[in-house]
Amino acid sequence: MNVLLIGSGGREHALAWKLAASPRLTRLYCAPGNPGIAEEAACIALDPADHAAVIAFCRVKSIDLVVVGPEAPLVAGLVDDLEAAGIKAFGPTKAAARLEGSKGFTKDLCRDAGIPTADYARFDAAQPAKAYVRRHGAPIVVKADGLAAGKGVVVAATIEEAEAAIDHLFAGAAGAEVVIEEVLEGEEASFFVLSDGVTALPLATAQDHKRAFDGDEGPNTGGMGAYSPAPVMTKAMVEDTMATIIRPTLKAMADKGCPFKGILYAGLMVGPAGPKLIEYNVRFGDPECQVLMMRLISDLLPALAAARDGTLADIELRWYDAPALTVVLAANGYPGHIETSGSIIRGLDKAAAGDLDVVVFHAGTARRGEDIVAAGGRVLGVTAMAPSIEQAQAKAYAAVDRIDWPGGFCRRDIGWQAIGRTS
Ligand code: ATP
Repeated sequence: MNVLLIGSGGREHALAWKLAASPRLTRLYCAPGNPGIAEEAACIALDPADHAAVIAFCRVKSIDLVVVGPEAPLVAGLVDDLEAAGIKAFGPTKAAARLEGSKGFTKDLCRDAGIPTADYARFDAAQPAKAYVRRHGAPIVVKADGLAAGKGVVVAATIEEAEAAIDHLFAGAAGAEVVIEEVLEGEEASFFVLSDGVTALPLATAQDHKRAFDGDEGPNTGGMGAYSPAPVMTKAMVEDTMATIIRPTLKAMADKGCPFKGILYAGLMVGPAGPKLIEYNVRFGDPECQVLMMRLISDLLPALAAARDGTLADIELRWYDAPALTVVLAANGYPGHIETSGSIIRGLDKAAAGDLDVVVFHAGTARRGEDIVAAGGRVLGVTAMAPSIEQAQAKAYAAVDRIDWPGGFCRRDIGWQAIGRTS
């Protein structure tokens, strides 16, 4: 099969690495890709927002399947346009991507289908939203309805903070909407499912570290590290999540006429009453995708093609029991002003030290002559698999320490929650 992968992050490098190992693959292209992906695929300077250009490329290169990594092209309807042009594409349609693109849509769906989630209300103006907050008191959560790259959520400790968040979200944003919801207590975990619209195949659980600094301190980021599986999610909880959250969601989407095909990523809060849904994403998480691809034994390509074709019932996926862990290296200053764009990263060829269970995935990197340089906030994902989470952590940090990049930093405690639970 000829495959075109859309995206340029660590998630797409992990997908490219796994797809490149498929015996079913003929040629792999990636738009736009990055220098790490270029080791696995032919990277092409195509703008994924230019759907006509993507379609034209697929025709010229006889692409059999397009795999869309990030949420923005999904929410923009890239899959719809490709399929309308007769090109097979893996990922949800624009209507199905509302599970991530509109928090209000998802909350209403959960309410109607009886899916466990936080109580909420939706508002399209600031005054009634503030009145609701004053009635309910703090702490309380204020969320922008649409995509906000992880910056649209405030867990407000006081009413004043919630009101300020409401003002901020409505300031100058015509047609803005907010969702206000109760605070859920517990431990967060991520659960990934592959769906063909009818059949749902559970993939794996993971946990990530969103805060920039050790001890889960500092500002929120796109994710400073992750590991899989998540020890907090027992087998019984996974089954419970499939029964009470995932399957009712897929049924509701099919009933609405927009069956969900693709990766459904449930952000869960695991509390005393079991898992509740915080939010959905309609694609793999990054860095979670890196640990998932490390642990996947089976061929990914037929599974993605089957999800597109509606034949997932024929697919079985096998996983290593061994845990995998990713440490993200970010440019100094991230998630604020990045101070070290263009700084040279050395030692990448030595980082894995010949160990096949260590891979350095690229995210925000660029090639400058012979050098690899930093070109983004999150720059590398050093991923390792080992028989225990402690060993995976030790292996990942040993690889990190072989990378010579004074312009970057990482957290030193990725996996602490899992290690606390398992030791
Ligand atoms: P992401 O970066 O995960 O895509 P997002 O902007 O789509 O984020 P959410 O995942 O809904 O937003 O919320 C971001 C974070 O805020 C969650 O990971 C969680 O830590 C916290 N959060 C959101 N809703 C709640 C809630 N009801 N109770 C407690 N914490 C919450």
